[in-house]
Amino acid sequence: MRADHKSYTGIDIFRMAAALLIIAIHTSPLASLGEGLGETGDFILTRIIARAAVPFFFMTSGFFLISRYHYSAEKLGTFVRKTALIYGIAILIYIPINLYNGYFKMDHLLPNMIKDIVFDGTLYHLWYLPASIIGGTIAWYLVKKLDYKKAFIVAAVLYLIGLFGDSYYGIIEKIPVCSGFYAYIFEVSDYTRNGIFFAPVFFIMGGFIADNHDKFIYNKASLGKSTSERDVYAKNVFCQTVFGAGICCGLMLILMLAEGMILHHFQFQRHDSMYVFLLPCVYFLFSFLLQFRGKRYVWLRDVSLIIYLIHPLMIVVIRMIAKLLDLQNLLVDNSVVHFLAVTLVSVVFSVAAAALRSRFGLKQKKHNADTDRAYIEINLENLEHNVEVLSEAMPPKCELMAVVKAEAYGHGMYEIATHLDKIGVRAFAVATIDEGIRLRRCGVRGEILILGYTAPERAKELRKYDITQTLIDYGYACRLNEQGCTVKVHMKIDTGMHRLGFDPDFNIEEMLSVFAMEHLVINGIYTHLCVADSLEEDDVHFTKRQIANFYGFIKKLKKEGILIPKIHIQSSYGLLNYPELKCNYVRAGIALYGVLSTPNTPTNLQLDLRPVLSLKAKVVLLRFVWEGESVGYGRTFTADRDCVIAIVSIGYADGFPRSLSGRGTEVLINGYRAPVAGRICMDQLAVDVTDIPNIAVGMTATLIGRDGAEEIDAPTVAENTESITNELFSRMGSRLGR
Ligand SMILES: *Cc1c(COP(=O)(O)O)cnc(C)c1O
Repeated sequence: MRADHKSYTGIDIFRMAAALLIIAIHTSPLASLGEGLGETGDFILTRIIARAAVPFFFMTSGFFLISRYHYSAEKLGTFVRKTALIYGIAILIYIPINLYNGYFKMDHLLPNMIKDIVFDGTLYHLWYLPASIIGGTIAWYLVKKLDYKKAFIVAAVLYLIGLFGDSYYGIIEKIPVCSGFYAYIFEVSDYTRNGIFFAPVFFIMGGFIADNHDKFIYNKASLGKSTSERDVYAKNVFCQTVFGAGICCGLMLILMLAEGMILHHFQFQRHDSMYVFLLPCVYFLFSFLLQFRGKRYVWLRDVSLIIYLIHPLMIVVIRMIAKLLDLQNLLVDNSVVHFLAVTLVSVVFSVAAAALRSRFGLKQKKHNADTDRAYIEINLENLEHNVEVLSEAMPPKCELMAVVKAEAYGHGMYEIATHLDKIGVRAFAVATIDEGIRLRRCGVRGEILILGYTAPERAKELRKYDITQTLIDYGYACRLNEQGCTVKVHMKIDTGMHRLGFDPDFNIEEMLSVFAMEHLVINGIYTHLCVADSLEEDDVHFTKRQIANFYGFIKKLKKEGILIPKIHIQSSYGLLNYPELKCNYVRAGIALYGVLSTPNTPTNLQLDLRPVLSLKAKVVLLRFVWEGESVGYGRTFTADRDCVIAIVSIGYADGFPRSLSGRGTEVLINGYRAPVAGRICMDQLAVDVTDIPNIAVGMTATLIGRDGAEEIDAPTVAENTESITNELFSRMGSRLGR
């Protein structure tokens, strides 16, 4: 995978602002400023505005944690463990204060401690950590089981319940049934602003933005439109611009202020953490901050978290210092100075702690193009471009069915399919049921068609994962139907390839009986062309006969009164050479990945397709080889001069075919071409780099792709192995980083 282009600078920086707002909540900086400003100002600042801070943190966590495309709960596990660890440390740090407060002397210590640990936090501000764990987990499972809309509705209902136990309590309090219900809740948790009622909705909104913030540019409506039209479309989404999101956020903030003031005025508030307008306010705040992209300030994440955790301790420290120096008037009683003093000490302490942590802490092991021995680089922009170009080439009402079998032709099914799903592709094709199931587990929606055979006994899984199966002949249709489990199918017609499919000329009674089968829902009929890539007269003639056969068959069905479902014929070359066919889908594979099967193939339609995959490895060693010495297995390369040989960390087990040895195969290093020397090994190969200036260990070798002005294209490499790009790609090794 290509590294993320730009980081979320706006979000990183606002973390600091949010941390300071939270200090404000606990120090009330305006409180000593006299009657009006003091009281009202303090309420507005600390009980309304600053209430956006914690939801902002929840949303940020959700943004990086929640996604419908996670197919394992690994990331959630890491998040929960990490937060629990921090919580544990924080609990220990505050034990002295708990002791001082007489916490351990209270009645019913054990039940109260459990309640505090799970919901309220063992010190007032620590509730944020268990709420993160519980809220994050609830949000994770809601998004995984439901789509965002339904998950949001569930979380919003929880929030609503919380709201009536918080700012709106005064309204509900009078109704006996309700007050009884809330009394029960308050037995378990002091407030409703906890991990169940408060946090999930913000986590879900964060995840929603993460999964959709590029969709506003590339969605279904914009697919197939030219770039300029798409730009207009993108700009039309008002709240996705700096200006628009800023305005919306400001407006919601004003409404929230009004809401807070009214509730305060009528004394409805039991607590003041939850407002109706808090939801849109934080949502637009986040959209606004998202617009500021650029440098990454990872350390601010640590600093803001540490500030959050330790500022109550710093309040105690400031009080102690004030007492020692006899400066209570200034440092404690003057609320502004008090706030500034606490902030200063907290920030200094947190920056120091974060610096220590980054110096001595455990560094996370990351996938890294600088340290990987060999890897595939995927250019998702080119993938989007190809989707767009192919969609434009198709007749109206024809949709792209993205063929992602065999690890998306070696590109990585997860990366490719989830990205296609995000940009609005709604039909996928795979070769096996297990590939289909994996797509669903990755969160892919839309239709998934299995092009090959599936054991009829697995019909239940087809239904469970809502995957469409191809009917490969009459006998198969009968066996699948006999499973007694209703499944979606596409019927394949053999129009001349003689691989899978029904004979179009067979008995019409039998054919009609397939359409009458109780457990088969026939949503499509298709065929596959076998020489669509050739423009030779004979081949064109054959293909046209295949096409005519197919349409003839459809016509026959129509005459029998069958309602014709979706039909499709073309794969990549089918579209390029016969773009005019009226169909509902084009099953594009190789063209989607931006290349053709063989180099310089003439096609009727010439599209600007751009390669998605590059294959790269590292120069791990340089050595001198004297004239007359040989390199590698079989001693097939003998130096005819004194040579510099680079050993590159990639071999045929990574998908760079051994048959390329000794065929003038070249790789790119430092922007120059260099020939492979001797036989390609399983995990390494040697390159003659004698003529490359400034060669050094650690440089990147490009085996497929571009380096400076030079490019090695996949079809040419494939041709040198006497095969086609499709095979070269689909054999890319599973141990490659992507
Ligand atoms: C693999 C496959 C495709 C995709 O072919 P490309 O030439 O890669 O576009 C389409 N249809 C069927 C039936 C396939 O098996």
